[in-house]
Amino acid sequence: MNEVDLDDLREELLQCRRCGICREAVYDLKGFEGICPIWRNTSGFEPSFMRGKIQIAIALLDGVLERTSENAEALYQCTLCGNCTQICGAEFHPAHVIETVRGILEEIPNEARDRLAASISTNDNPYQEEASVKREWVKEMEFDIPTEGDTLYFTGCTASLRMQETAKNTARILHAVGEDFFVMENEPCCGSVLLRTGKQEVARTNAERAAKAIKESGAKKIIVSCAGCMKTLKKDFAELFDLDLPEIVHIVQYAAQLIEEQKIPLKNIETKKVTYHDPCHIGRELGIYDEPRKVIDGIPGLELVEMNPNRSAAICCGAGGGLRSYDPDLSKRIAADRVKVAEGTGAEIIITACPFCETNLNSGADLINSSVRTVDIVDLLAGSIKAQE
Ligand code: SF4
Ligand code: SF4
Repeated sequence: MNEVDLDDLREELLQCRRCGICREAVYDLKGFEGICPIWRNTSGFEPSFMRGKIQIAIALLDGVLERTSENAEALYQCTLCGNCTQICGAEFHPAHVIETVRGILEEIPNEARDRLAASISTNDNPYQEEASVKREWVKEMEFDIPTEGDTLYFTGCTASLRMQETAKNTARILHAVGEDFFVMENEPCCGSVLLRTGKQEVARTNAERAAKAIKESGAKKIIVSCAGCMKTLKKDFAELFDLDLPEIVHIVQYAAQLIEEQKIPLKNIETKKVTYHDPCHIGRELGIYDEPRKVIDGIPGLELVEMNPNRSAAICCGAGGGLRSYDPDLSKRIAADRVKVAEGTGAEIIITACPFCETNLNSGADLINSSVRTVDIVDLLAGSIKAQE
């Protein structure tokens, strides 16, 4: 990561005009109250939304507040979803600045952050699983997947270790259209969670190692199915670490193009009313809003009903920014909030394009005993292809 100039960082934090718009119910006219999922699900006091977090960050940096875990709690109670940034009129990106501040304040103890970082350093994944387990799903496939080729399917730790159906169905889509793809023998972790939780120097070392491994694999193109991997590999590697990678596309972009060019034969699946949850990392961070909706429109039998808010104003699933590890209960309450919005649309299922969002939204559904489950877009697409065979 390029070295952070503390004066510049402080100057950025001082851009906050303390207007409080990031607290107020700015989507009220649309029938939705509040933009910050933390504010909605905690005390609602000043540290719960961005204005307060910024003042706490300044006080910690300036030494006005002692650098303790308790004093820094508000900085970690943030999913870095960026929804406040959508509405903020000041000349800075509040969520990105909080991420940078976490890195500067790395000396403050944080058990969840350090546990995740230790696991990535030892196992190449944050789930404390042995690195070799990441390829177990490949052995269960009905066709062979090589370890080299032109197109790398960068599976990501969550799909490899926790949501293997996402990995398998992504591979099935690539296989069905004859893509010459491969999965690495030893896939590195992209290090997204390192960056979000403030382990910037470890993230740099990890990113350099990952970029080298990807380069040595000979890949000319990279396909990902995780929104966090997408944002990290495509944006952070270049902007924070000056690392070049081959072209990177998310599977929803790839699939949208297949559908547009009529290169993928699809058959009706059982008719369902569905809604789409925009993952923050491919939505607000990368502007990928139309492609998933094109894919849903392209799968015969699906009827899309939108949640309100959606696209750039979509409320976070609650998993991001390390919150799922730092404060799992709060993370699940936020997910439950999103599921309730989905229930209000009359949708039977929530579709998303990130295995981490899927996991957390289903945890939220469990919390409120909701029958509305979340599935990955590749599950429906692969099912639709298979039905044709
Ligand atoms: S972060 Fe932006 S929206 Fe929030 S109080 Fe500061 S200037 Fe206003
Ligand atoms: S980034 Fe998201 S969670 Fe964090 S303060 Fe802004 S709206 Fe709230």
